[in-house]
Amino acid sequence: MSEAFDAIVAQEENLLCRSYSRYPLAIARGKGSRLWDVDGKEYVDLLAGIAVIGLGHCHDEVCQTLAAQSHKLWHVSNLFYQQEQLDLAKVLLSTTHHEKAFFCNSGAEANEACIKLARRYMRTVKQRDAYEIITLGNCFHGRTLGTLAATGRDSLSNGFTPLPDGFAQVPAGDLDALRAAISPKTAAVLVECVQGEGGVLPLPAAYLQGVEALCREKDILFLCDEVQAGMGRTGKFWAFQNYGLTPDAISVAKSLANGLPMGAMLATSEAARGFVAGSHATTFGGSALVSAVACKTVEIILRDHLPERAAALGAHVLEAATALQQRLPGKIREVRGLGLMIGIELMEDGTRVWKELIQRGFICNLSHGVTLRLLPPLTIAQEDLDAFLQTLEDILQGR
Ligand code: PLP
Repeated sequence: MSEAFDAIVAQEENLLCRSYSRYPLAIARGKGSRLWDVDGKEYVDLLAGIAVIGLGHCHDEVCQTLAAQSHKLWHVSNLFYQQEQLDLAKVLLSTTHHEKAFFCNSGAEANEACIKLARRYMRTVKQRDAYEIITLGNCFHGRTLGTLAATGRDSLSNGFTPLPDGFAQVPAGDLDALRAAISPKTAAVLVECVQGEGGVLPLPAAYLQGVEALCREKDILFLCDEVQAGMGRTGKFWAFQNYGLTPDAISVAKSLANGLPMGAMLATSEAARGFVAGSHATTFGGSALVSAVACKTVEIILRDHLPERAAALGAHVLEAATALQQRLPGKIREVRGLGLMIGIELMEDGTRVWKELIQRGFICNLSHGVTLRLLPPLTIAQEDLDAFLQTLEDILQGR
């Protein structure tokens, strides 16, 4: 480690709350799918700020939009009408069957909006005292108290109890368990089609279709968390579109504004009846600056056919990583994913491999100690992905 790195670590010890365990890197600059640390060393970024920088770092057109909007209008609050929100809503809703948008600032807030909408829709539109949200084991929906309750992982809620009531969880993949858990108090089922923080686990199509069918049968809302898997990452604009699903509402965040904090809930007109003026609000949600940047981001994803690119590149990586698994018996337990959301589960504790990858210039995430998680920019070059796989092979072979 260098002096520059040590100086940053020492400052942080004094200045910041200790709520993060950091990677051994201090990043100074980014461009496209490259990052440079404080000592000027270059890295291939296969993590994209955890699925946030979908277009790559400092994308020229996004920078231009940001600069232009920053001289026009930043924020006036949701007390006022703003064309930027409408421009964003129009292009975002053109990607889906949903008809209404609500803007907020993060993934957890987008899920809170879905949860609040489901409860209020049941009470005020359906006139049923149904409030419970059912989620799936191994899910991740955020860190607010409500979304922690939805996530249902003791390791994350330790020390923060009591969490809000009104959440239940069933094992992912078990339709009978879901059927048994649905009761007159159930308002909605909330799922991630590809569980991201859980270790990149795509749920089976038949199961997801069965969940939606059960929601229709029981007349409860079907909600998809698209925070990590949405925005083109899985090969369709939205992950649910890979399975022919029609969720009543979805949560969106991460790469929506290519790195500026923004979230959204998209809902059908029917589900959106759950909110009326005053039901839900946020000071910053959809401010002009982030809306303009998000609008440009969505336009570029559509114009450059980035979901299709993610599908093709993802299929290439899955095939190459599966070939690697077969070439190196006893090293890789499983290769899985959808589009550019890829998990390579190792048979050994992955810490050594992951650290070595960083040292050799490749940044990815280590999930649950064993799974290398790749969430690269959708614009990444195939050569960068191939170079990563070659380096992984070298490391696994002790070269
Ligand atoms: N939902 C999913 C599927 C996520 O992956 C995340 C974050 O990783 C969240 C929700 C929470 O998003 P945020 O950290 O923006 O609140």
